[in-house]
Amino acid sequence: MLLRHTTSEIKERSALTINPAKTCQPIGAMYAALGIHRCLPHSHGSQGCCAYHRSTLTRHYKEPVMASTSSFTEGSAVFGGQSNLLQAIHNIFSIYEPDVIAIHTTCLSETIGDDIPQIIATARDKKYIPDGRYVIHANTPSYVGSHVTGFSNMVKGMVTYFAEPGTQTKTINIIPGWVEPSDMREIKRICYMMGIEIILFPDTSDVLDCPQTGRFEFYPKGGTTIEELKAAGRSRMTLALGRSASVAAARELDSKCKVACEVMELPIGLRATDQFVDTLRRVARVEVPTLLEDERGRLMDMMTDMHQYFAGRRVALWGDPDQLVSLTEFLVDLDMRPVYIVTGTPGKKFLSRIEKALRGKVPEAKVQEGPCSDMFLLHQWIKQEKVDLLIGNTYGKYISRDEDIPLLRYGFPILDRIGHSYFPSVGYVGAMRLLEKILGLLMDRQDRDAPEESFELVM
Ligand code: SF4
Repeated sequence: MLLRHTTSEIKERSALTINPAKTCQPIGAMYAALGIHRCLPHSHGSQGCCAYHRSTLTRHYKEPVMASTSSFTEGSAVFGGQSNLLQAIHNIFSIYEPDVIAIHTTCLSETIGDDIPQIIATARDKKYIPDGRYVIHANTPSYVGSHVTGFSNMVKGMVTYFAEPGTQTKTINIIPGWVEPSDMREIKRICYMMGIEIILFPDTSDVLDCPQTGRFEFYPKGGTTIEELKAAGRSRMTLALGRSASVAAARELDSKCKVACEVMELPIGLRATDQFVDTLRRVARVEVPTLLEDERGRLMDMMTDMHQYFAGRRVALWGDPDQLVSLTEFLVDLDMRPVYIVTGTPGKKFLSRIEKALRGKVPEAKVQEGPCSDMFLLHQWIKQEKVDLLIGNTYGKYISRDEDIPLLRYGFPILDRIGHSYFPSVGYVGAMRLLEKILGLLMDRQDRDAPEESFELVM
């Protein structure tokens, strides 16, 4: 009993979060920055913050994550971090030769109030930034928001610093939101199948899942290039996938370069993928290829075959808002019952988005968002009335063990398993993988609990 103090009795809390369903802003900013080709993320704060952010990303992706730090000491806390950051910019370009340094702030530098654009301008005046190289930034105070907010802020920063208006091209921008490198690769594959030219940013495929070649590459081959980020300002339009992580950048592109945007949910599950594919078809004026229709058909076939095992099963979910909305919609389509849904990322529209995804089919559902939404509350709900399945990140393994409920590891971070970042969960192919994983967990449990006389070879 690891969480033995969790009680089923819920008391009103306004200033206490226990096991938050989120991590801190700079982790998201660092992940987004890794999606720029030859970019070194830079943490403007203490070494401890940077070590935590890097280690969380490294443990999730099982890849070495490079990032530098301003290495604050007591002196920086009193006098500000300007001299540390100037020195850092000078050193980084001299030693590590990135094309871009992407600075994000931490709680301490935000509390001091360091003016990052002014420090970048000073670095340029001092010729610390070589010609053709760039320094961008995002403010990511971690006492507000979450890793998703940090991701969103850094992607918006990419637009602010790079996007250039000009003669419109037929390219379509896709902002993929917080998804795995494999998901970004899958989005590109779908667009390639449809013959659509896209600029995907950020793009962490071939950065955090690059092939093993036997040679160490400080900057892996993947990532959106600076030229692509500049050209994003001339694209025909932008598709922003996932409101929480992608809308800020899409709106910035619209106001800076007059690139119109459409916002849609992450293409997880049948319905959201249909919407994504149909929007691509419409805006790019292309036909949906037979190969993609066949993928959809195979997903439908799997859903039909598996439906009898899913119907009526109660599920608890936690994690990032964009992922939760699409997952909820998918589970409802399977006739499952997503009864408890928690995100620690604040967002005014989350509740109405989930309501829409539930489509009135799960009236008993309890949904919570924002700072005081945590795994403790989720556990209390589960103690009051059990569920058949948990879907969320690694932090749910304690509830899973204490309550003896199967856990589908999904979202960020997954620290205790390997391989998840190599397989997509978006698109029709990703939905098929989710189905197989969910059914595997439910049937393993059925086998484990079956009395000998009901232990069946064919289930
Ligand atoms: S919450 Fe703030 S102090 Fe803690 S690691 Fe994140 S940025 Fe650093």
